[in-house]
Amino acid sequence: MKLQRTVMMLVLAVFGVVSSQAQQVQLSGTPNPQIEKILREISPANIEASIRKLVSFGTRHTLSSQDDPQRGIGAARKWIREEFDRYSKESGGRLMISEDDFIQPAGGRVPQPTRLVNIIATLPGTQAESKDRIHVVSGHYDSCVCSQSMTDATSDAPGASDDASGTAAVMEMARVMSKYEFDATIVFMTVPGEEQGLLGAAHWAEDAKTKSLNIAAMFTNDIIGNTLGGNGVRDNRRVRLFSEGVPTTETEAEARARQSVGGENDGPSRQLARYIKEVGERYLPNFEVTLIFRRDRYGRGERS
Ligand SMILES: [Zn+2]
Repeated sequence: MKLQRTVMMLVLAVFGVVSSQAQQVQLSGTPNPQIEKILREISPANIEASIRKLVSFGTRHTLSSQDDPQRGIGAARKWIREEFDRYSKESGGRLMISEDDFIQPAGGRVPQPTRLVNIIATLPGTQAESKDRIHVVSGHYDSCVCSQSMTDATSDAPGASDDASGTAAVMEMARVMSKYEFDATIVFMTVPGEEQGLLGAAHWAEDAKTKSLNIAAMFTNDIIGNTLGGNGVRDNRRVRLFSEGVPTTETEAEARARQSVGGENDGPSRQLARYIKEVGERYLPNFEVTLIFRRDRYGRGERS
């Protein structure tokens, strides 16, 4: 199953960056048995069940019902929270669940002020010198019938691919990885408002900036595990990984340093992407990480 392998690749990516030298993923020699054990615990049945459950809410449109117990984004959010709470319990309380609950003001694709809630599961790092280093994995749980209308909050919008797949991936990673200890901190986050312009994620990012959180890496998962391309070609052996070149927030001094040793291909995001490819393909033979040297797909994150 491509989705399972994509999630396994993600686990490898996160494992690689949250580990100290002692735990480090070796790029040569014998594979690390603990990593192989973690990968074996990623369950395709769980991932599929989560996607089916998310689809069962009919629509998860950001503007849909907040309080209907069966249908709409409120019901979906409640279920995700309950699942995270269960993983937390299974981890002996080490996985900490919180909500970033706010009102998005009207504007763009949000016609009236709307409540948005990011659901966040944090697995604190165990080493004093590295636990303030944070790695974020996210997927968006909202959906829409975007090809027809950006504000239709009542029509069926199952969003199995977009993005129950990414949400289920984040949930499965949280479930499995919270049974283990890592040197640095991992934040598993599911966000709404993506289809309105990445609003949930942007709110959390602003908050992280205000708090000066040390975000070392961020992986977002949108429409993952699909095997049928828009051109009709079936391909279950590759995952696309987008990475930016020149960092969005680069200072002049950082630009000078980067230019003195290399070029636009040497930003931290590109280095991380190459690392993911190397590690992912080592542990998952016959599954290729295709590096796409762009920040994102065309048109993603538009707000109007
Ligand atoms: Zn999406």
